[in-house]
Amino acid sequence: SSSVNDDYSVQKTNDDASQSKLAAVKLGYWKDEFLVRFVSMSSDDGRAVHRDPEISLGYWARITIIRHYVDRFLAQAGDRAQIISIGSGFDTLFWRIKSEGAKFARFVEVDFSSVTAKKLRVIRRPSNSSALAGLFREDAQESQHTDLHAGDYHLVGADVRQWAELRAKLEEAGVDWNAPTLVIAECVLIYMAVSQSEELLAHLTKEFGNVAILSYEQTNIHDEFGRVMTANLEKRGLTLAGIAACGSIESQKKRLVEAGFTNGTIDDMNSVFNKKLTAEERNKVLRIECLDEMELLRQLNEHYSISFATRAPEFDNFGEPTL
Ligand code: SAM
Repeated sequence: SSSVNDDYSVQKTNDDASQSKLAAVKLGYWKDEFLVRFVSMSSDDGRAVHRDPEISLGYWARITIIRHYVDRFLAQAGDRAQIISIGSGFDTLFWRIKSEGAKFARFVEVDFSSVTAKKLRVIRRPSNSSALAGLFREDAQESQHTDLHAGDYHLVGADVRQWAELRAKLEEAGVDWNAPTLVIAECVLIYMAVSQSEELLAHLTKEFGNVAILSYEQTNIHDEFGRVMTANLEKRGLTLAGIAACGSIESQKKRLVEAGFTNGTIDDMNSVFNKKLTAEERNKVLRIECLDEMELLRQLNEHYSISFATRAPEFDNFGEPTL
């Protein structure tokens, strides 16, 4: 195989992300009535999943800032808006925004077909039909046990490193290449080789008329804390293969500019936590559990970043500054 990480280990990162999110939801960090349908709260050994407070706060900041960008994009893009979530795992964003009345043309989720097959089985379960399929604009049509098309919701299996394969699946989902499109990559690009994420990003700016990318991932890992993070991932058979492209805010910017994005903002998660999220939001979640050491949270946040970059001439780049 040409991949740096074996596909199975990469797919497993979704279990960890969804269990961490559910642990935080159960404690009230944010609301998500859908996630529990996709993940069970016990780990393989049957024990309830527990996460330290700084981990839940980190996930809260990640969920909240992504939602902030998504809401702003939808407000600016109008009814033709499309969202494409690559490496979507068991993410529930479609159901969260749809249940709150968001308007968009289509929402496409892409992951390896082994992951989409699992997600599809959950969606199809009779006990979930009103809560999940009930929010689709049209009756769901399935194909190959991995893909589902339901008007405004599409779930497709593809390796996003293979542009031809991805493109064909986006066509099947009825993607409009000129409509304003937000591509979300939440903890996905980092597991690919740099050349592969560069290629994917370049295809996005070339083939879409008006596109934005929202990417959340590890950064700044070349210190002691980063070495511990990396070692923990290695125990699970994972390498942060893409780190050369996102190892610093500067290298992230370079990657985005070289891929053809013209405007955007890149922040580490400390600036997000302290400046972009309001004191009111922050104080509410800081009260949920006792965090002994703000320093732990600061260190964790320092090692993640979020970038929102655009090449959207007809939409004035959604108001983003030049990169
Ligand atoms: N975005 C979700 C979230 O944040 O909750 C899941 C994140 S999980 C860390 C990474 C996901 O990306 C996994 O579901 C994995 O299968 C998917 N993924 C990674 N590389 C991929 C590829 N080349 N093609 C399709 N999916 C991929």
